[in-house]
Amino acid sequence: MRSPIIAGNWKMNKTVDEAVEFVDQIKNDLPDPKVQETILAAPTIALVPMVKATAGTPLKITAENCYYKDAGAYTGETSPTSLYSAGVHHVILGHSERRQLFNETDELINLKVHAALDAGLCPIVCCDDTMGRRVAGKKVHWVVSRILADLKDLKPENVNKVVIAYEPSWAIGTGESMDPAEAEEGCYLIRQTIADMYGEETADQMRILYGGSVNTQNVNKLMASQDIDGILAGGASLDPVTFLKLVNH
Ligand code: PEP
Repeated sequence: MRSPIIAGNWKMNKTVDEAVEFVDQIKNDLPDPKVQETILAAPTIALVPMVKATAGTPLKITAENCYYKDAGAYTGETSPTSLYSAGVHHVILGHSERRQLFNETDELINLKVHAALDAGLCPIVCCDDTMGRRVAGKKVHWVVSRILADLKDLKPENVNKVVIAYEPSWAIGTGESMDPAEAEEGCYLIRQTIADMYGEETADQMRILYGGSVNTQNVNKLMASQDIDGILAGGASLDPVTFLKLVNH
């Protein structure tokens, strides 16, 4: 039985004060984390105050990126170990904005996944899908090769700490979500790829989220799909009332 996840990704939005106020507004209305996990990804500067504001609540605070080294001459980067020791639980890696705007490659993302796991963080690895619906035949190759590369050579005991987010690039921030049946196909394909890499049992336990213009209208249908274990919402996570509607859908 895979426990579902509702995750928000604020991207580069909200000041520290706004972030803490948001946490205060939602923290008493969240489900038991044994039933469903609630995760919020925020800009690095807001993480520590948010962790403090969530003490004793089920909300898990998540970084939006990290580097693959723990310390050293890497100006401007964030160490996975320092995130973990500050009380951060997860880190989003390989978001399509990181891939497209900052030229992150599968090789770099794989290094980051290993480093995050070694530091104790749970990576939320985004599998973007730049294939439009019109070239659906190429989707299989794209998605499979992303997963093979990004999750390469993981220690067996670490694989189920990873969460995957299937995110068609054309659906991110556009207001146009993927049809739930097609989103289910993408998540199923990812699960089959994990089964080929790490075995059926591991694949059955892995949480796979859908992301791309999730809103209060489509969340229920998406969450009803067999291979979709949760959602990663960008725009819809910015407003506390809307985010709570997603969480308590
Ligand atoms: C995202 O940032 O991962 C995302 C899915 O954004 P949105 O929900 O706004 O499409």
